[in-house]
Amino acid sequence: MPSSADIHEILAGHGIRPSRSRIAVYANLAARCDHPRAEDVYRDLSPALTTLSRTTVYSTLSLFCKKNLAREVFTGENEMRFDAKTFPHAHLFCRKCGMLADAPLPSAFPARAPACGGWTLADVQLTYSGLCPRCSAACCE
Ligand SMILES: [Zn+2]
Ligand SMILES: [Zn+2]
Repeated sequence: MPSSADIHEILAGHGIRPSRSRIAVYANLAARCDHPRAEDVYRDLSPALTTLSRTTVYSTLSLFCKKNLAREVFTGENEMRFDAKTFPHAHLFCRKCGMLADAPLPSAFPARAPACGGWTLADVQLTYSGLCPRCSAACCE
């Protein structure tokens, strides 16, 4: 778990001015592996950081994505999920409870897109969807 001084340095290294709320949002995102929504991060932080708003959390997470410090994970649902792990990896998405977990990228999956005429491509994602172990067990009972 990076210290607040480390996070200060990480943010500055990505060209992000390290404010108190940005440090708190990054610390929260980096500490969890559930790929939270902006709302989840806000709910965690708002009791201690009473001046924090939902809009600030959302715009901070978007800024992190723009600066390649975090990425958005596409689930196919109408919601945005965020990930502090920016190295290539796949995701497992539960259609029932919304759980989003990490999985290794299969070796045959291209980690970068092939050259496509005129496109500037920044990201490629692989998300498997189905039921998590808990929801699978519940539906077979
Ligand atoms: Zn589930
Ligand atoms: Zn992930």
